[in-house]
Amino acid sequence: MTPQLVVRRAVWKGKSVDVLVADGRIVEVLPWRKDQSFEAAWVVDAQGLLLFPSLVDCHVHLREPGFEYKEDLASGLAAAASGGFGQVMPMANTSPVNDSAATTRFILDQARAAWPHGPMARPIGALTKGLAGQELSVMAELAEAGCVAFSNDGKPVENTELFRRAVEYAWDLGLKVIDHCEDPYMAPGAGVNEGAVSSRLGLPAQPDVAEALHVARDILLAQYLDIPIHVAHVSCRKSVELLAWAKKRGVPITAETCPHYLLFTEDLVEGYNTLAKVNPPLRTRDDVLAMRQALRTGVVDALATDHAPHAAHEKETEFEDAPCGITGLDTALCSTWALVGQGELSADDFLRAWTSAPASIFDLPVCAFDPGDPADFFLFDPKARWVVGPETLRSKSKNTPLLGAEMTGRVTAHFLGGINVL
Ligand SMILES: [Zn+2]
Repeated sequence: MTPQLVVRRAVWKGKSVDVLVADGRIVEVLPWRKDQSFEAAWVVDAQGLLLFPSLVDCHVHLREPGFEYKEDLASGLAAAASGGFGQVMPMANTSPVNDSAATTRFILDQARAAWPHGPMARPIGALTKGLAGQELSVMAELAEAGCVAFSNDGKPVENTELFRRAVEYAWDLGLKVIDHCEDPYMAPGAGVNEGAVSSRLGLPAQPDVAEALHVARDILLAQYLDIPIHVAHVSCRKSVELLAWAKKRGVPITAETCPHYLLFTEDLVEGYNTLAKVNPPLRTRDDVLAMRQALRTGVVDALATDHAPHAAHEKETEFEDAPCGITGLDTALCSTWALVGQGELSADDFLRAWTSAPASIFDLPVCAFDPGDPADFFLFDPKARWVVGPETLRSKSKNTPLLGAEMTGRVTAHFLGGINVL
């Protein structure tokens, strides 16, 4: 077969390779040879650039419909494309909530209109009507319309019987439930860890046990039902210890964490810094080390950004009034790839957490550079330097504690189905 696209001399796992693409799929990946030449419609010289499969983000907030002043599908997917993400899973807390087939179809149509070749939006349907936690949503209709998972997002379902039914119905539909683990009575949404910093600042705070209690519930339920449950954005050592206990016993539970829990501690909240207000909150140094270790051992399966854009005026207010959330699609690749450079994660841990793990948990296609895989990959200049700021972020919102930080590495081309979308 004559390839339509050949990417030459890109570095994949330490070796120079040529990637051959036809009909949107990988034909072959060959070791680069100087004397080799190709007949192809398009040849790209990628000397000095790293090759990555497109990343999968199983937890984002793209705000459309309803909150387009924070983000919309076009801008959120722009941030995804330049941040290395080929598929993102938007949460259901839009307005209206994504609890109807009409809203799911609207999200899919808007995404396709803005980015016809991808990045793909893979919507997460609401677990309960209006995310109110009272009545199950029309889960079969949502699955039929294209939702790839269900979640009650930031409003964990208190009623364990209702939650159990949701997990069972979702599984009957072949889909999983993603649970935001937070005891609904212990300073919900406080956005700061209960500890030294919160006492000094006099802020209502959420202890790590508020998360761990709920993780324990989900583990016991997954074990009892023998049905998988996926735990969203794990932030603390206590949760990791419970997950390790569960995985050792073969409980079907999976989990994700986010770049900010690998990078930052509660100290960032000092000075009432609302850019560091996030739910679950940034924890302690010990928790950061536990999260890094959990990714290395696979106790935490996946990385996700929990990209949560908010407008400047919403964050520029009193700490207690500011909404929780940090943006991540623009910066996650560079900030977590830096951990590989520091020896905190291996390149294999990085790839697993951003590609194969989320793809296998949510049954999504992914590129592993095997023949027939979707030609979804990007080229990354590992030496490029850029400063995080309004002119470099593609997301509409700029609420990241990395504002002003210098990042290393930049996506120079992003091929989705073999088409460069940048
Ligand atoms: Zn979220």
